[in-house]
Amino acid sequence: MSNPVYYADVVLPLNLVQPFTYLLGASPVAVGQRIIVPFGKQKFYTGIVLRCHQTQPQRYEAKEVVFIYDEPPLISEIQINFWSWIATYYATPLGMVIKGALPSSFLLESQSVVALKPSAETAEDCSPLEQKIILALGEGPLSMKALGKAVERVNPMSGVQKLIQKGILELYQQVDEKYRPKFENHISLAASYLKDLDALHPVFEGLSKAPKQKSILLTYFDLYTPDQPLVSQKLLLQKAGAKSAALNALVDKEIFETHQIQVNRILFSEDVEKQALQALNTAQQNALSAIQQAFEKQNTVLFEGVTASGKTEVYSHLIEQVLQSGKQVLYLVPEISLTTQLVERLRTYFDSSLKVYHSRYSLSERTEIWEQVQQSDPSAQLILGARSAVLLPFRDLGLIVVDEEHEASYKQNDPAPRYQARDAAVVLGQQTQAKILLGSATPSLESFFNAQQGKYGWVQLKERFTGVSLPKIQTIDLKEAHRNGAMQGAFSNELIKAIKTTLEAQKQVILFQNRRGYAPQMTCGSCGYTPQCSQCDVSLTYHKYDHQLRCHYCSFQMQAPHQCFACGMSTWDTKGLGTQQLQAQIQNLFPEVEVARLDWDSTRKKGAFEELFNRFDRQEIQILVGTQMVVKGLNFANVHLVGILNADQLMHYPDFRSHERCFQMLCQVAGRAGRAEEPGQVLLQTYQPEHPLILQVQQYDYSSFILDELHQRKTFEYPPYIRLIQIRLLHQQLDVVQQAAQWYANVLNSYQIATILGPTTPGVARVRNRYIQEILIKFKGVSERNQIKALLPKIQQSFDSIAPFRNTRVQVDVDP
Ligand code: ADP
Ligand code: ZN
Repeated sequence: MSNPVYYADVVLPLNLVQPFTYLLGASPVAVGQRIIVPFGKQKFYTGIVLRCHQTQPQRYEAKEVVFIYDEPPLISEIQINFWSWIATYYATPLGMVIKGALPSSFLLESQSVVALKPSAETAEDCSPLEQKIILALGEGPLSMKALGKAVERVNPMSGVQKLIQKGILELYQQVDEKYRPKFENHISLAASYLKDLDALHPVFEGLSKAPKQKSILLTYFDLYTPDQPLVSQKLLLQKAGAKSAALNALVDKEIFETHQIQVNRILFSEDVEKQALQALNTAQQNALSAIQQAFEKQNTVLFEGVTASGKTEVYSHLIEQVLQSGKQVLYLVPEISLTTQLVERLRTYFDSSLKVYHSRYSLSERTEIWEQVQQSDPSAQLILGARSAVLLPFRDLGLIVVDEEHEASYKQNDPAPRYQARDAAVVLGQQTQAKILLGSATPSLESFFNAQQGKYGWVQLKERFTGVSLPKIQTIDLKEAHRNGAMQGAFSNELIKAIKTTLEAQKQVILFQNRRGYAPQMTCGSCGYTPQCSQCDVSLTYHKYDHQLRCHYCSFQMQAPHQCFACGMSTWDTKGLGTQQLQAQIQNLFPEVEVARLDWDSTRKKGAFEELFNRFDRQEIQILVGTQMVVKGLNFANVHLVGILNADQLMHYPDFRSHERCFQMLCQVAGRAGRAEEPGQVLLQTYQPEHPLILQVQQYDYSSFILDELHQRKTFEYPPYIRLIQIRLLHQQLDVVQQAAQWYANVLNSYQIATILGPTTPGVARVRNRYIQEILIKFKGVSERNQIKALLPKIQQSFDSIAPFRNTRVQVDVDP
């Protein structure tokens, strides 16, 4: 008997459908272990072991593994199972999921560029290779290839990885200015005094003539603890009521030392006082018990609670219990940079266990949190993050809270994997027995449907915590206002009057205009009519270049009409009004007040959002004009009036979810008014005040709306009654992409498994120089889904072999 020879099936972080088999030799490796392997011409990648076995591959000769990391498996079986589900369900190679889930510092490859860390201490006990690497990088960052030349090694990766682990090297990356780590000055007592506090007596006496300095020193002792001698400089000066000159004097006297400490940019107020959880009121207590009972029977519970009912407090009670049991908790939010108030609140309860995870943090920050989660570090037992946090390597997850579960941003559009983090969380819950709580005031139709069908538990909380009734929503008929000449720009006289009254009462105003996902439409400026597709029940999209109206789903198209079908006027508007123009208009109407704008453009600069937010909170700004950013998680006590400039734009967005989104957003916007003691006021401008959706919004009647909407979805065959997969093809030449899409649609059609719609041209027909065509696959059951998913790679293979279609990108989007 000869000795056994081992092979490993390795998944590489690349867009490859199959894992590759590599030769290990005499010793096996564990599943989930990291290894470096050659791939292609002189390229190396870090891969993850999926399987270790003794079967030699049939179709090719296995190449030898280059390096095996000397560490326990990086990826646990939990992650391999979960990521594999994502890969299969979202029709994406597992390698792409791994690439999305693992910080790139774990995935060194031959194209990686590395640099010495500026702060690195000189290295001790380094191997000769490691020393050579340090020397070579002393001149500046190098690619792995150049570094290999410099140290005369084809592959210096193993040495590089060791040095990264030792904190001497880092992957070099151009850090986005917005997300640079943020440093703040901290103060500590000089080391000699920290060791011997009695030595401070003469110092105090010496300060008798410098009261400010003395006060700083005394304040320092209020703030410091023996195991945390560092105190934020800002906080110290603020509490001592002193200026930095006094502090500098103490530093000069070598009583204090200054330190630059990297702070988490989201946790902008340095210090929180830990507080016990709020006691729940009866309604909240009942909801909590109901949730706990439901969890005994079901993994997933939908928690439907009106705005300001105190869902967050209920979550917090659940979280505390799970943390006490020693398990990990994930708190998902739609958009992390808009959650400053939530972070503050969670910190007061869970500061020492809470970490915020953001996909746009620096690589080293992400790596650090990733490792803490993987090691079940108590300081990261509770993770607050946006959708990508669901991919973190939880070991022992007890609970996932998906807050505002209806939000569209839980879906990743680009790049692959195009996953829905809420749905993925539900699956992760099934795989790991973690409990999943989906919270929302206006649940998604999908979750509502699942709750209705008994798939999820379902708990409702209908009272607002403060008992304040929801603000009254009053509509303003834009048709009539236009007819009567009662408009100034985009503002009706009625709205202007209400703004004026509000400002006179020293209250603040929020004006809302949605622009996100803006699609060109034709809307009649006189009556507000927007042409619809008769088959798909969505608005038609206006294409300027050929003056056509098209359906985004089926291939219906028509010449754009001259006159409105509804009122016969020729007053088409195809642009819609941006927040910038609105800001200008309102500033013109109220030249003496401070108006600010909150949208992605105005908050791109680092810290801009926080600043705007703080200024509005301090009432230095009276009117805030914004996109849906104004509605997310913000809670300003002094806002009395919310004005919605044009509800119709939201309603007519060409998407089958536009009514659902419209309702959700209008409710959320309305919820911004008058959250404190007195009810607020909401004015909603619309061309269709009699539209059922608007009437239901006015009543906050989400259940009636959902029942109507479910009926529509059933009639026109949309989710949750059927499932969708969208195929998107992109190419630089229009005729190529059109032919390619037609070919693809024909092939799909020939199998007769599902309804194939399209190819069609989307509203935004060309992105980054590439023309886009879309095909929609509609189908009912699981077996159709599996058939289609099995087909797609085969179709893709034939597609790839057609020469004229080369360089056409094909993207698959499951549950778009
Ligand atoms: P939701 O998430 O449902 O919109 P929040 O959790 O933000 O509601 O609660 C709304 C407000 O009511 C917050 O200011 C919160 O601090 C307060 N609140 C809710 N429940 C309690 C409670 N049990 N005790 C004290 N304050 C509460
Ligand atoms: Zn259509």
